[in-house]
Amino acid sequence: MKKIVQINILLLIFLFNSCGNAQNENQNDNKNNTNNMKNLTEKEWKERLTEEQYHILREKGTERPFTGKYYMHNENGTYKCAGCGAELFTHDMKFESECGWPSFDREIEGGKIIKTPDYSHGMRRVEITCANCGGHLGHIFDDGPTETGQRYCVNSESLTFEPEQTLDTITLAAGCFWCVEAAFDKLDGVVSAVSGYAGGHLKNPTYREVCTGNTGHAEAVQITFNPEKISVEKILEIFFTIHDPTTLNRQGGDVGTQYRSGIFYQNEKQKELAEHIITTLNDQKVFSDPIVTEVTPFTNFYSAENYHQEYYELNKQEPYCQFVVKPKLDKFYKVYKELLKK
Ligand SMILES: [Zn+2]
Repeated sequence: MKKIVQINILLLIFLFNSCGNAQNENQNDNKNNTNNMKNLTEKEWKERLTEEQYHILREKGTERPFTGKYYMHNENGTYKCAGCGAELFTHDMKFESECGWPSFDREIEGGKIIKTPDYSHGMRRVEITCANCGGHLGHIFDDGPTETGQRYCVNSESLTFEPEQTLDTITLAAGCFWCVEAAFDKLDGVVSAVSGYAGGHLKNPTYREVCTGNTGHAEAVQITFNPEKISVEKILEIFFTIHDPTTLNRQGGDVGTQYRSGIFYQNEKQKELAEHIITTLNDQKVFSDPIVTEVTPFTNFYSAENYHQEYYELNKQEPYCQFVVKPKLDKFYKVYKELLKK
C-alpha cells in the first residue's frame, strides 16, 4: 500500500503542476490485427506458433487422442483459434466425448469456420479450418449426441482458451462526470464507464434536477472493470490524481453538492482500501489541505441522459471540453500511457 501512495505523490505533482500541452500519441498497434493472416509466410508462422501448433494448424496434423489440454477441460469461457485468436466456440457448446479430442456441438455464428471435404488417409471426412487464418482445426462429424447432431472434433493445439471475466463495479464522484468518464473509459480493463447520478434521494433524477443541488445526488461515473486487468487500488489511485479531493462540494469552477468528491463502495474491500488510501494521503500531507472525499455505501446510481454519455468524445470542440477537460485528459493520457487501451 505504501508503494501505491508513493507513486501517487509523484503523479499528483505531475497532474496538478504540469502545464505543458501533452502530445497525443498514436496508439496504433498492429499486434492484434487478424485481417492479413492469410498472407503470412510459413517462416512467419513458424515464428508465431509452437512446434506442435505449427504441425497441426499448418501441416494438418492430429494430436494423439486423450492427450490434449482441452479434452477434459471444463471451465466457463471462450475457445479461440490458436493461430489468429478468432473466437470459435464457447464452453456451453462443449460436451464430453469419448473420442479423445475436445468436442463441440456447434460453433460461434458468423462463418468463422470453413468446412471442406477431406479424402485423405483413405477416409471421407469433412475438415474444419479457421476462416480467418486458414489454420487446420480438426474434423466435423454427424454423430453428435445433442440436438444439433454435430460433433466438431478439434485438436487442443489448435485452440487457446480465455476464461470468462468476473467483473467488478465501483462508483466514483469527482466533479463533472464528462472528464471522469473520458479518463476511465480509456483504461485497459475498464469494460464500461457510465456517467450518472449517485447517492441521492430522488428516483430517476434529470440533469436539471441534479443541478439544483437539492436531490442529494453527486455527478458520478459507474465503472465496470475486470479485476484481473486493473485493480481497485489502481482505480482509486487514478481517482485521487484526476481531481482535487480537498475542496468541499466543489471542483474548480463547478460548485455545489452535486460536484462533491465521493467513493460509493460496493463491498468491504473497496471501503477498506478507500479509507486506507485517504488516511495515508492525509498522513503524508500529499495535499496541503485534508481530503474531504466521502466514503459511503453504494445505494443507487441512475444513468445520465444519453447526451451526457461520451460527452467529451462527441463534443471536443466545445469550450468547456477544450479548456477544462482536454488539458486534464492530455496529462492523464501521458501519465497513464502504459495503462491505456491499445
Ligand atoms: Zn485462425
